[in-house]
Amino acid sequence: MAGPFGELMEPVDVDSVEAWVWLAYDQLNMAFIDALDLPGKVGVVLIESSHKAQRRPYHQQKLGVLLSNQRHFALELQAAGHAVMYVIGHQTYAEVLDSLSAALGCIHGVQAAERELRLEVAPLERDGRLVLHEHPGWLTPRSWFVESVGTEPPFRMDAFYRKVRQTTGWMMMDGKPVGGKYSFDAENRFPWKGDPLAPDAPVFNHDTIDAEVETLVRTHYGHHPGEVNLSMQPTSAEDVAGALAFALDCLPNFGTYEDAMSEQSRGLFHSRLATLVNLHRVMPSRLVEAAMASDAPLNSVEGFVRQMIWREYVHHIHEVTDGFRTLEVDRSTGARGARWDGFAAEDDEPHPNHLSQSNPLPEAYWGASSGLRCLDASVESVMDDGWTHHIPRLMVLSNIANLLDVNPRELTDWFHAAFIDAYDWVVEPNVLGMGTFALGTAMMTKPYVAGSAYINRMSDHCKSCQFHHKKTCPMTRLYWAYLNRHGPSFTGNHRMAIAMKNVAKRADEEKALDAATFEHVRSTLLNGEELRPPSQGDLRSWS
Ligand SMILES: Cc1cc2nc3c(=O)[nH]c(=O)nc-3n(C[C@H](O)[C@H](O)[C@H](O)COP(=O)(O)OP(=O)(O)OC[C@H]3O[C@@H](n4cnc5c(N)ncnc54)[C@H](O)[C@@H]3O)c2cc1C
Ligand code: SF4
Repeated sequence: MAGPFGELMEPVDVDSVEAWVWLAYDQLNMAFIDALDLPGKVGVVLIESSHKAQRRPYHQQKLGVLLSNQRHFALELQAAGHAVMYVIGHQTYAEVLDSLSAALGCIHGVQAAERELRLEVAPLERDGRLVLHEHPGWLTPRSWFVESVGTEPPFRMDAFYRKVRQTTGWMMMDGKPVGGKYSFDAENRFPWKGDPLAPDAPVFNHDTIDAEVETLVRTHYGHHPGEVNLSMQPTSAEDVAGALAFALDCLPNFGTYEDAMSEQSRGLFHSRLATLVNLHRVMPSRLVEAAMASDAPLNSVEGFVRQMIWREYVHHIHEVTDGFRTLEVDRSTGARGARWDGFAAEDDEPHPNHLSQSNPLPEAYWGASSGLRCLDASVESVMDDGWTHHIPRLMVLSNIANLLDVNPRELTDWFHAAFIDAYDWVVEPNVLGMGTFALGTAMMTKPYVAGSAYINRMSDHCKSCQFHHKKTCPMTRLYWAYLNRHGPSFTGNHRMAIAMKNVAKRADEEKALDAATFEHVRSTLLNGEELRPPSQGDLRSWS
């Protein structure tokens, strides 16, 4: 291995190693080795596979952050006295492990979080060349999920959340929740008007490993979306400590402004830790303990811990349903590859699509201007950072795709490729189950759809938009048109009863205008064109 990283890696004395452990790309923590409790000197196998990197149009920042963290982790392992075999190649993980096990004997590992990796290495496990142990990173065993939620839909977070709080005793006193209630959600929905000041996005040390990885990404993956800039991402152990400190500084205001969006501060008081925690550079338990030990207000601590439990919840749902394959829900096939140039992939597998939504993902999701400021600002953030916080993901990016009847699998593929923290077990439940209504009521009671009133209340996007949020913005008409089109799918859904009553009361002329607005926005964006406000502010000019 040439280059700064190769020069820092020591040759491996294979004979001195008594047990070999393979750690996958998202198991970058020494706790994974400690949990195996293997006797003698442990050697660690880490694999950098271009096969995986080429599988999707991953954002360049995502590839950079993953590779640099893995390389830094390799050096940390070496410094801690482990022999590290670092394999770089074009083969799949299974192919590399197959040849290594022939030379080294049986290799230990940890159950993969990602379904697609589990499937890939399953044959090696079956014939005993790979011995897989329990994953030490989850906060909750599957039994807690099964006991509180069951194995059949509908799955509900509330029951699981209470179970976790009661069993762990987190924020509990004498069997009751501290503060008298389990959720402080109602206190966590404030817009942000500039006060208190939000911190700038953190900047991290940029070392020779980062620089080398950036060059690698630009050279081999320059045709992928986005750009790589590892000054903006934690990669070394020192950076990880800095990222954790940043998150704890944000925590006091996290809860109150959790749902707010602003063009003055993309991240507001969000921790930006999902990438690190999904890679296990920070163990989830450490985060929860740090939050509970802080003196941040209860609404922030509870809000933060709830998000970490939500993370567990989506993981269990994904695993229990084999990535939703065991669910009885309407399905469809569709294009894969997120419609990024050159990544169209054949796939005949039908994916959940409760509302039979079949429109392609508009180019606006890859940076073409849509003219809708809320969408364009959120996409800018994704293209720049591979990241937005939760509410732009849910209430802008998913909401608009949902209102436009974009195929939910295509939207999921886009999130999977474009976000630095996306892995199948977390992105699929969040997009198919929450961001869209592709799973019906299996995960959420109703779809998260909203018009311009929500976006105007929770963000400053409307202030700089060419549309007037009340007079010319198409969002609210898209909302009504969505309810009208999909009404039959919501029959008997009590959570949708008021919305359905309201849509039924709309005059026929208004309904026709809603449908015409949908058609105009849909066709304009699908043609890759920018929307313009209707002439003289009259939406009828669109019909
Ligand atoms: C449509 C959609 C797609 C999403 N895709 C992903 C994804 O690919 N990867 C991912 O990690 N999260 C995903 N999320 C969840 C959430 O939006 C991100 O975890 C969060 O925005 C990351 O920013 P943060 O680290 O600042 O999180 P914070 O807002 O600071 O939250 C703290 C931590 O809680 C966890 N968390 C919060 N919400 C969720 C959630 N819904 N599911 C799982 N963990 C959660 C994360 O680990 C996060 O770091 C998605 C949400 C939606 C609505
Ligand atoms: S006016 Fe409408 S399109 Fe513009 S930012 Fe507000 S909600 Fe989005």
